[in-house]
Amino acid sequence: MSTPKKGDLSPSEKELFQVISAGNVQEASRLLGCKDVRVNCLDEYGMTPLMHAAYKGKADMCKLLLQHGADVNCNEHEHGYTALMFAGLSGKTDITWMMLDAGAETDVTNSVGRTAAQMAAFVGQHDCVTVINNYFSRARLDYYTKPQGLEKEPKLPPKLAGPLHKVIMSTNLNPVKLVMLVKENPLLAEVEALDKSRRVMELICEKCIKQQDMNEVLAMKMHYISCVLGKCASFLKDREDKLDGLIKSLLKGRDSDGFPVFQEKFIRECIRKFPYCDATLLQQLVRSIAPVDIGNDPTALSVLTQAITGQVGFMDAEFCTTCGEKGAEKRCSICKMVIYCGQACQKMHWFTHKKVCKKLQEEREKQEVEAARLRMQQSKGDSSSNQKTKTKNI
Ligand SMILES: [Zn+2]
Ligand SMILES: [Zn+2]
Repeated sequence: MSTPKKGDLSPSEKELFQVISAGNVQEASRLLGCKDVRVNCLDEYGMTPLMHAAYKGKADMCKLLLQHGADVNCNEHEHGYTALMFAGLSGKTDITWMMLDAGAETDVTNSVGRTAAQMAAFVGQHDCVTVINNYFSRARLDYYTKPQGLEKEPKLPPKLAGPLHKVIMSTNLNPVKLVMLVKENPLLAEVEALDKSRRVMELICEKCIKQQDMNEVLAMKMHYISCVLGKCASFLKDREDKLDGLIKSLLKGRDSDGFPVFQEKFIRECIRKFPYCDATLLQQLVRSIAPVDIGNDPTALSVLTQAITGQVGFMDAEFCTTCGEKGAEKRCSICKMVIYCGQACQKMHWFTHKKVCKKLQEEREKQEVEAARLRMQQSKGDSSSNQKTKTKNI
C-alpha cells in the first residue's frame, strides 16, 4: 500500500469517514478489514480517521482505530493539528487519555504555535488541560527500573513502578490523598522504598528542567511528590503512629477556625525547596503565596493545584475536606458546613473537626436567620411597590 496522500481516498475510505461521523463502530470495524482501506488515510484537509473520531468525541471509535494501528502522531493536517489536539478540543478526558496512552507527543505545536494543552485551554476545556499536563507515561518511569550504564541495580526496584506511577498520576495533590495512596501499598510504604522512589522523582524533576523543551509544571509536581514521599519516610522512621500520624498532622486544624496549619506550612515549604530558583513557575507560586497570611485564601494547595493541573475554583464545596477528592457529597450532619467523599474520610477528620463543628453550626444558623430576614424584607418591599402600581392603575 502506498503512503497516504491528502484527499486521495478509495470509495471504502470515503465511506469510513462517513461512518465515523455517524458513530457506527460496527460498520467502521468491517471497513477497516477491507483491503482498500488504510487506517491512516488522509482526507482533503490532511485529517486521519483517528483525528475525526477524536474531534467528534467518539471514544469507542478511537479505540477501534488505535487497535487497527492508527498513528497517533500523524502530523499531516493543513494547520498542524494532531489527534491529541482534537481530543483536547472535544473536551473528552477519556479520549485525551487514550491518545496519551497511545504515545501522543505533548509538545508538538500547530501552525499558530500552540501545543495540545494550550489549544484545550484556549477553548476552555480545562479538564483536558489537566490530563495532558499531568501525563507521565509508565514507560518513562520504567526506564529507571532497568540498570543504566555501569549500574548493577536499577535505581527503582521494578515492583515499585506500579504503585509509584499511581501516585504520580494523581490529579488530586492534596497531601492527605497522596499519603493515603502510599499507605495503601505495603511495598511503597517502607522507608527504603520511599527513599529510592524519592530519588527517582528528583531525577525526573531535574530532567524536566534540563530537557530542551522545559516542563516546569511536571518538574514541580515531581518535586512536590518527592517531598511528600520524604515526609512519609520520616514519619515511618521516627514516629510510632507512622503514616496515620502524618495524616492526622496534615488534618489537624487550629483551635480558632479549624484551619490545617501544618498542611499549609508543609506545602509552602515544599514549594520553597524547589531546587531550580530561576524557574518562572516557582517565582509565580511564591508571588501568589508569600503575601497571604496563613489561614487566608488562597491556600498553598489551591495555588499549587491550579498551577500544576489547571484546575480553577478548586475550593468549591464539592471537594472532600479530608482528602480533596472531587465529587464529595456527604455533609457533616451537625454543622452541614464540611463535605466528605465518604464515611472513612469523615471519621478520619472528626478528631479535629469536632472542635469547631458546633461553632460552624452556630455560624450557619445565624447566616440562615439573617438570609430569611432579608428575604422577608424584600418580599414586603415587593408587595408594597406592587400595591403602589395597582393604585396608580386605578
Ligand atoms: Zn475524602
Ligand atoms: Zn460538623
